[in-house]
Amino acid sequence: MAELHPALRAEAQAIAKRCVHCGFCLATCPTFQVVGDERDGPRGRIDLVTAALRGEPISKETLVHLDRCLSCLACETTCPSGVRYGRLATIGREYLEKERSPMGRLVRRAMGWLMPHPRRFAAALRLGRLVRPVLPAVLARMIPQPRHHGLAADQAQGIVAVGPTPAAAGRHAAGEVLLFHGCVQDALVPAINEATTTLLHGAGYVVRDTRPQCCGALPLHLGQAEDARQMARTLLDHLQPDLEKGIRCVVNASGCLAHMRDYGALLAQDACYAARAERAAGLFVEPAQLLQQLVRRDPSAPRHIMLHAPCTLQHGLHEAGSVQRLLEEAGFTVAQPAEAHLCCGAAGPYAILERAMAQSLKARKLAHLEAGEASMIVTANIGCLIHLAEGAHLPVRHYLELLQPKP
Ligand code: SF4
Ligand code: SF4
Repeated sequence: MAELHPALRAEAQAIAKRCVHCGFCLATCPTFQVVGDERDGPRGRIDLVTAALRGEPISKETLVHLDRCLSCLACETTCPSGVRYGRLATIGREYLEKERSPMGRLVRRAMGWLMPHPRRFAAALRLGRLVRPVLPAVLARMIPQPRHHGLAADQAQGIVAVGPTPAAAGRHAAGEVLLFHGCVQDALVPAINEATTTLLHGAGYVVRDTRPQCCGALPLHLGQAEDARQMARTLLDHLQPDLEKGIRCVVNASGCLAHMRDYGALLAQDACYAARAERAAGLFVEPAQLLQQLVRRDPSAPRHIMLHAPCTLQHGLHEAGSVQRLLEEAGFTVAQPAEAHLCCGAAGPYAILERAMAQSLKARKLAHLEAGEASMIVTANIGCLIHLAEGAHLPVRHYLELLQPKP
């Protein structure tokens, strides 16, 4: 295992120094709220990582408490001292990965081999759905059921009515954008990218699809930092000709977008890519930034909706407001649940690797999301959508699925 880059060690130590141990972050940390153990809160984890980086003996518990962190960044939003906990945790994970048991490493390697690779993932999903009926219930529940293959199925269920794409008036006037397809979304809910394309066309954009590929967020969640860096480089190479011309890349999964905006930090030690990664960040955009003049797909569809703003959207990107505004302008009455700042427990592969905590946070989140008069839950990230849909009584949709361009 490669040693930690000295610059990363120095960066982690500099971040940790800013922590004044006030403990404000404990009030908004989901794992501390559930477990109540200092080591399962940001302050305790900062101490665990810095002790390890100082060369103090590392106990098995250190990795357990770091694994239990969701990387939700609620602590960053709360921290009055501007501690960049997320970067510190990422560096800590890279350093501590060598402490993982062979079995733990094997499981993560297998997930890293499967999940970020679109073809492998789609094939495994098809197979999983096929054998689902004969699997034990605990495994069967982990395999997402097909929801629909396009908006037509939602229409058939009376959830939305798909209107016609507006005529070509004004088409192409807004310029060209890329649509990032990611790794798992097309296999899980293809309707999200379909809806995004329709909406961007309606707003006058020429839309070009990117090759389906992982942005690197999944391997980073799995502690495979070098794989994450390599995926970021591959994606930047693929997008380079367009990014050089200033063409923006639309990313409709907030988990991917938050990670891609952070490419500069991820590749800071790479002389060939650091500057490119930094420049690219500004060209990765949340779709709500490009969309205006929208209407509900069906005026008789649910008007009261509950917005589950993913952690990456609210704490990572700080763009939950623009999504809410877009939905309100389109005629929805949008509410946010109590404890909106708390993570739902999805967090990439966390929902599988830390199932007990993920389920506990989901139950708490769904109780709030389903408490009001809303008849639909909307979100902006495929991971949250799949996680919440397993257990929700209300339909859970990506917010773009509810909209159509104004003709
Ligand atoms: S990232 Fe989230 S789970 Fe991790 S320490 Fe911060 S608030 Fe807690
Ligand atoms: S991370 Fe920030 S909020 Fe938490 S204890 Fe340190 S200074 Fe206080």
